Amino acid sequence: MTVIALDVGGTQIKAGVLADDGSLVHAERRATGAERGPDAVIETVLGCAAELARGCAPVAAGIAVPGLVDEASGTAVFAPNLGWHQVPVRDWLAEELGLPVAFGHDVRAGGLAEARLGAGRGSRSFLFVPVGTGIAAAVVLDGEPLHGAHGFAGELGHLVVRPGGEACPCGNRGCLETVASATAIARRYARATGQHGFSAKNVQGIARTGDPVAAAVWREAVEALADGLAAAVNLLDPERIVIGGGLAQAGASYFTPLRTALAERLTFRHAPPVVPARLGHQAGCLGAGLLAQDLRPSPSTAVSRRPTPGKLG
Ligand SMILES: [Zn+2]
Repeated sequence: MTVIALDVGGTQIKAGVLADDGSLVHAERRATGAERGPDAVIETVLGCAAELARGCAPVAAGIAVPGLVDEASGTAVFAPNLGWHQVPVRDWLAEELGLPVAFGHDVRAGGLAEARLGAGRGSRSFLFVPVGTGIAAAVVLDGEPLHGAHGFAGELGHLVVRPGGEACPCGNRGCLETVASATAIARRYARATGQHGFSAKNVQGIARTGDPVAAAVWREAVEALADGLAAAVNLLDPERIVIGGGLAQAGASYFTPLRTALAERLTFRHAPPVVPARLGHQAGCLGAGLLAQDLRPSPSTAVSRRPTPGKLG
């Protein structure tokens, strides 16, 4: 009783086959090729799913996508990295495979996977916060990711932590991700030094050598993230915070000052544990598979067959 799972990202599609116990018995990656246009990305996704399905006789499929999603209708409302506007992903994939298809947001799917299989295991309520190109959050309450009224829950990266600060692509200024994302760390170091081409990991390494500029950029990122997490903790009271994305691998020189800074900001309560994610880049794919597994017992999830739509054209 296997399911297939796809996590469609801006640069890669991570796909796999999940067994009943949640293990990935097959995993692969393909280039998204977003530069080829939205139709081509759809064709790649559908083709990849069909190929996987031929090899394993799945009972359902799950797909996770970035951007703004309408989980109720199975629509990718706006995914700028993929060029998708109002794409009925769930129906198209169901039509392609002739199977029930579950559809979800990539970060929330990752949060679900960390909840059931990873660093959130044992916590009914926690925050999963991937820190990478941007910053997002899955708010997992009572074991389930919170969607919000419009599917926008968890936009932690756009919490304003430095009012009047750097302009953010969202239109606001001083958002958390303009200071604390991996991209922001690299950008701020380049701006301060005129030296380009250093990643956040490089900046961390330079900071360790005692370089004051790199150390300041690193410290500011940690402090801004602590500001954002403190707001989230005061609002939601999670049992723990799971940091995902590239900075999950940043080690003690990230997590130790982050825990200290968070504790300093939570003046009237204990800080929850802040721990690195366990599932790495596979969290979204595993989460998509779990969503598919959740479909199986319910008879109400039968696919309604529709004529093949004209894709995006
Ligand atoms: Zn913003």
